[in-house]
Amino acid sequence: MRSKIACRRASDGAVSPRETTMFNKILIANRGEIACRVIKTAKALGIATVAVYSDADADARFVKLADEAYRLGPAPATESYLRADLILDIAKHSGAQAIHPGYGFLSENEGFAAACQAAGIAFIGPPAAAIAAMGSKSAAKALMQKAGVPLVPGYHGDDQDPALLQKQADAIGYPVLIKASSGGGGKGMRIVEKTEEFAAALASCQREARASFGDDKVLIEKYLTKPRHVEIQVFADSHGGCVYLFERDCSVQRRHQKVLEEAPAPHLPQATRQAMGDAAVAAARAVGYVGAGTVEFIMDVQENGEPGKFYFMEMNTRLQVEHPVTEMITGQDLVAWQLQVAAGGKLPLAQEQLAIRGHAIEARIYAEDPDKGFLPSIGTLVHLATPPESSSVRIDTGVEQGDAISPFYDPMIAKLIVWGESREAALRQMDAALGQYQVVGPATNIAFLRRIVRHRSFAGGHVDTGLIARHHDELLPPPAAPSVRQLALLALAEALAGQQRYPAAAGWRLNGQLTRRFTFQHPQQDCEVELSHQGDGYQLRVAGHTLAASATLSGNALAAVLDGARIQASVVRHGAQRVLFAGGERLAVEFIDPYAFTETGVHGETHLKAPMPGRVVALLAAIGEKVAKGSPLLILEAMKMEHTITAPGDGVVQDFYFEAGEQVNDGDELVDFAAE
Ligand code: ADP
Ligand code: ADP
Ligand code: MG
Repeated sequence: MRSKIACRRASDGAVSPRETTMFNKILIANRGEIACRVIKTAKALGIATVAVYSDADADARFVKLADEAYRLGPAPATESYLRADLILDIAKHSGAQAIHPGYGFLSENEGFAAACQAAGIAFIGPPAAAIAAMGSKSAAKALMQKAGVPLVPGYHGDDQDPALLQKQADAIGYPVLIKASSGGGGKGMRIVEKTEEFAAALASCQREARASFGDDKVLIEKYLTKPRHVEIQVFADSHGGCVYLFERDCSVQRRHQKVLEEAPAPHLPQATRQAMGDAAVAAARAVGYVGAGTVEFIMDVQENGEPGKFYFMEMNTRLQVEHPVTEMITGQDLVAWQLQVAAGGKLPLAQEQLAIRGHAIEARIYAEDPDKGFLPSIGTLVHLATPPESSSVRIDTGVEQGDAISPFYDPMIAKLIVWGESREAALRQMDAALGQYQVVGPATNIAFLRRIVRHRSFAGGHVDTGLIARHHDELLPPPAAPSVRQLALLALAEALAGQQRYPAAAGWRLNGQLTRRFTFQHPQQDCEVELSHQGDGYQLRVAGHTLAASATLSGNALAAVLDGARIQASVVRHGAQRVLFAGGERLAVEFIDPYAFTETGVHGETHLKAPMPGRVVALLAAIGEKVAKGSPLLILEAMKMEHTITAPGDGVVQDFYFEAGEQVNDGDELVDFAAE
């Protein structure tokens, strides 16, 4: 049975209720955050959802959120998310009436769209013919030329003779950009600075295009040296309605891939916005478009920094990764629009009913290591804490703490989207939200994103696609040495965590004058903190500074007072790793105990000896207890310092040779430990 929803007329602005048959159940042929995103709207509309997953995603968030889920196959996309045949079988079998392809994978595959249609299942996207028309950047440009949409000067013909291509490039004038006609995801592009370099660049571009897209056709464009990427969200229904939901500026890119996106575009005159919107609608109409699409334009920046001319670049015939910024400024749910249109309904609103309110920015949070050339960083999300979501902070994600970022797919952790009444307000929101985004496990680009958001060029809205490369050194500085405050917080957390885990060691400290020394290893330097008990609190000595402190620790949450300043921080302990989140900054160090003193004898048993004369103050394990490597076994006080003897490996405590309170000499054996 299909349920009925009311649907409003869009094309003429008059609102007249009309009955449309909405789907009862849809299948989502995608994974990760976009699968979760689609499920969210489906749930809100009372539509049941079917997920499909690969073995790598069997326990993923989107699988749990869906009402039903079916296995596709092994992790590689070619054996799972690209298996159109299996996906269609599951859709039929599960009774799904429509398939949402998300983005990537099968979303721009005209064969899949056609196969859905043939099977009587609605494809939540444009008609196969529109995908085909825009699938080739060359053919799309030819079509756009006819539709009167401005194009970047260039060559997009069928003749691919290298000599002809060279001649075309010479005529356009260098620098030129060679682009794979079937390219995407920022791949298959070569900038050529002069004629002598053209032939080699062409060959290399064709090789990559063949390997990545199975098609070595290229086009040539004038390479704009300081352009902006401004794209228009369009939406069309199957009743002739077509509107644009304004623009997004995606100029902040790394290697032609989007890093930060925002809406509206900064410093964009209303007249330009309207001209671009009209051009985008013309582009959509030219291919008989239906559904959500994005027309990407490249825009010149004039000498005075003002936006210049804009040119059609390509059309993405799907929902775009950065669609949430449009949702934030228009108050519309684009997935709900997609469902309504795919079900045969009319657009929910007419052009004149759409308006921009405030400003939104999206940051793509990736598991990648900016210090290692942005190499993807896979592994388990050991700790994950996010800023609280609200009407101005939105998080689109497919993962939760404990999940792994796998090597098989895009290593995106989340999209963080913020909204403010003004761009300045949105920037502040983004800065604060990034400062609250905590990840331990894989490396991330969070600190890098925050530096961009704080950078004067971005803050001033002076964006172009070269922004990151131009300010590379400022945006990717070497890791800063830990501050006094950070080290003090780490030492407090260490002391409190130790007391919680080994209460036996806590009591004797109350009246003690003892000092403990903590050493933290940081890429720049080893850092030492001395901590002694003073009254109810502590005295800390860090790099020549003395601080009075008190603190409590609850889980990872550290509440500290440092010289009168109250500070909330988080300290995540993972193996020897300590990650401090305080004041919006993240600091990762290794905790090392230089006094852990071990000597391995014959037969694998280990003798733990006193590193110096002193007094045993606490035994931290029971005789016969199995302990893990690094577990504290005994505390020795010597020369007013406290030293922890830790287990040299996993093993069993056979015996202690001294009681708490007894004096020991340098080199005395303290613990009889049997390593496993
Ligand atoms: P959008 O244009 O929707 O903002 P992108 O152009 O960044 O997003 O990416 C579009 C699609 O291409 C997404 O499905 C994304 O996963 C995929 N993609 C992005 N980067 C790459 C890449 N380096 N290689 C292959 N696919 C990519
Ligand atoms: P993709 O399919 O990989 O998204 P696009 O054609 O959309 O390919 O181009 C991706 C990015 O490359 C653009 O956002 C822009 O930064 C850059 N780019 C594309 N065409 C040009 C050009 N003619 N001049 C300068 N930069 C360009
Ligand atoms: Mg593009």
